[in-house]
Order: sequence, then C-alpha cells, then structure tokens
Amino acid sequence: MRIYLDNAATTPMTSEVMEVMKDIMYNDFGNPSSIHAQGRKARTIIENARKVVAKAVGSSLGEIFFTSSATESNNMVLKGAVWHKGIRRILTTPIEHHCVLHSLDYLKHNGHCDVQFIKVNSGGWVDLDHLEDLLKHDSAPTLVSIMHANNEIGTIQDIISIGHICKKYGALFHSDTVQTFGKIPLDVQKIPVHFISGSAHKLHGPKGVGFVYINNETMLPPFIHGGSQERNMRAGTENVLGIGGFGRAVEEAMNNIDQRKEYVLSLKKRFKEILGSHIADVIFLGDSPEQLSLHNIVNVSLPPSPKSDMLVINMDISGISVSSGSACTSGIEQESHVLRAIGHDSQRPSVRFSFSHLNTPEEIEFAAHKLAEVL
Ligand code: PLP
Repeated sequence: MRIYLDNAATTPMTSEVMEVMKDIMYNDFGNPSSIHAQGRKARTIIENARKVVAKAVGSSLGEIFFTSSATESNNMVLKGAVWHKGIRRILTTPIEHHCVLHSLDYLKHNGHCDVQFIKVNSGGWVDLDHLEDLLKHDSAPTLVSIMHANNEIGTIQDIISIGHICKKYGALFHSDTVQTFGKIPLDVQKIPVHFISGSAHKLHGPKGVGFVYINNETMLPPFIHGGSQERNMRAGTENVLGIGGFGRAVEEAMNNIDQRKEYVLSLKKRFKEILGSHIADVIFLGDSPEQLSLHNIVNVSLPPSPKSDMLVINMDISGISVSSGSACTSGIEQESHVLRAIGHDSQRPSVRFSFSHLNTPEEIEFAAHKLAEVL
C-alpha cells in the first residue's frame, strides 16, 4: 500500500467527485451551447458549478470564468493586463509558480512590460515596505502579482495588507490562490484584489480545469478566441465533466473547510514532533508563525549527509510519495527557485511533504519514522 504525501502537487479525487463525474459521463453528454434538453442539462451543470465557486470566493457569478487550468488563468490575467489594461510594470516575487514567472519572462523579454521583484525574507514572506517603496517611486501603470500561499514552503502572504497597499497607489492586484482556494477562507469583498485563480486538482477535483476571478471593474477581453462560450470570454466547448467535478469538489471543500483544516493541522504537528525528536538539526522552512503557514505543507530541510542524496527516491522505494519541490514536467530534480530565493543552504537537502484530509495519522507516523531511518 502506498502512502501519498504530495498533495500540493495534486490530490486524489474523492469518491463523491468521481460519482458526480461518472453520472455526467453516462448521462450528460450534451453540448452546453445546444438549445435542446440535453444541451440545457449540460449548461445547468456548468452554471451550478459557477454558483459554487462564486459563493466560495464571495464574487458575483459574472466574475467567474472556467479555464483549462490555473496556468491558463494566470496567463490570461498577466498578459491581458499588459495587452489591454495599459499595464507597463509588474511587481512580483521570486517565489511565484513558474506559470507566473515564465509568463513574466515572456512579457519582459519581448518588450511588453518591465518586471521587478519584491524582496522576500528567509521564511518566504514578502517585504511590505519594499513593495510600498517600489510603488511610491514609480508611477508607471502597475500590476502586483503575489501568490496567496507558496506551493513549496507553504508561506501564506498577508494579501489583505498587500491589496490595501496596491489600492493606495492605484495598482492592480493579482493573487495566485491555487494553494489556498478551498483550504482557507477567501473573500474578494474583504480583499482588495482584482484577479485570483484556482485549480480543481489541488482540492480533490479533476485535472485540466481551473477558474479565474476577474473583478467587474477590471474586466479583460478574451484570451482564447472562437465561440461565445463563457460569455465570450473563453472560447472552446466547455469541459462539462471537469467543471461538474470541480463544482462538487469545491462544495465538499467549503462544507468541511474548518474540520479539514483542523485535522490536517494535527497531522502536520504530529509529523513535525516525530521529526524533531528523531533528527538533529531539522529545519521546517516557511513554518513560523504557524498562522502564516499553510496547514498541509511541511518543507523539511535536513542536515547534509551522504545518505541524504536521493531522499525522494529512497522514500519512493519505501512506498511513500513525496516531492523535492514543485511538480516538474521533466521529472529531473532541479534546484528549487523558491529555496534559492529564500537563501536556503543548497548543501542541505529538502523534502516537501504535503497532506490532505484523506491521510491517516498512521501514514504520517510511518512516513516520519521512515524519513529518519532513510537518513
Ligand atoms: N500556481 C500554483 C501555486 C500551483 O501550485 C500550481 C500547480 O502546481 C499552479 C499555479 C498551476 O496550476 P495548474 O496545474 O492548474 O496549471
């Protein structure tokens, strides 16, 4: 039996989500753009999912658009803001996900806008004074893009304060909320934010479906052109199956948000306790203060030792799936840009463990003891 502790990369679907999707696969194959009964049924599935997502983030229905992934959502926002909203400068952090950083590389290297980096400290938290300085000293139309929680070290940023600073200087604010959506409450009525993004597969929904929230005041034109789907905002026949599964996953996440959080946090605490008592000089990255650290991610930095090479592979051989950072497409371990940005000692190996409510205390204890043993 394998133990899956890589839930920040992706999560298994719950049986309820699979049931909903199975039902759609068998019964609801209509094209949501068709006006007959089967088309209307498919349309209803999408609109119900939109209601669930909009309620989860406190937006209106017209501000939520389904996409193929959070990668697409983030591309749509960043490129759309530069191409259509007159943005000339983007301020971001060096610890964003590659879908943000590589989009910004593209925009910068093709002369579309300037990109500047806001300092983060050794825990990965953004230096708010630096953000304010950057905004104060240049009045170029600016968008600030800062993720809510980091996918490698779990650092949670204070996006309410960031949003207020952006507002003070008239900057647009985008937050990649992929790791927090459905895990900690998000309310766009309380956060001065113009764009957020999310992805179904991070919260026990299917892969290949995401959403973008675009504030009514800063609506963007379409990123993908074609038919009139998603109210002309995102062409292409909708992924009815995926969107239906996404809706169910969000409903479950929101109905159980506090219980899941409390339970997963207890797993994280137990895990850290065991490692702390069995491994000398273990460091938990981006972990303190606890309320600014995501409850499902523990990035463990370990003392250098000859045995620490190939840790992820050795854990894998022991039946435990973990990760050394973000899920990378090549399968090759590369030095993490996040760990480099927070000044982590590259001689120390690090392993990311990420939990979900589907893990058991026994799994967590087994994994913690196994890590100590492998070392
Ligand atoms: N942003 C963050 C913080 C992520 O962790 C991920 C997934 O790894 C993404 C964006 C991309 O999401 P998707 O897999 O839906 O493209």
